[in-house]
Amino acid sequence: MAVWVACTVVVLVSGIYVLRPLFRQSAGNFDVDLLSETELDRLLDRKSVVYRNLKDLQLEFRMGRLSEDDFRQLDEGYKNEAALILQRLDQLDASEHLDEMIEKDIRAKKAKLFGTATRTADSSRCPSCGAPRIEGKKFCGDCGQRL
Ligand SMILES: [Zn+2]
Repeated sequence: MAVWVACTVVVLVSGIYVLRPLFRQSAGNFDVDLLSETELDRLLDRKSVVYRNLKDLQLEFRMGRLSEDDFRQLDEGYKNEAALILQRLDQLDASEHLDEMIEKDIRAKKAKLFGTATRTADSSRCPSCGAPRIEGKKFCGDCGQRL
């Protein structure tokens, strides 16, 4: 009986050990996508809540339901939070641009590696990086190559 239990444990442990990288990888990718999307959603939600609170606050102050001290304190708190949210949104935006830049760089490098055969054939593209050529321009807008 003890041998049977030991065998089962060994099979289970080795099975988990073999399959673990597969689970971890798919779960990891899923998490990254989910995380970046929910953070943006969460920030946008929070932003609209803060802006609504600011409006409500001003309304309540005008209706005399808040003292000036309370109003100033709350108003400053919401405005600080709004500033932090906007800052974080900017950072997310910047990281998207970074992705674009990296993609563009990879495309340019690929074009350099594989684009030699099509260089002469495609005159609408930069011979160096493969970026679309702008009519009347003497230099490529992407890499500065003379056209
Ligand atoms: Zn170019």
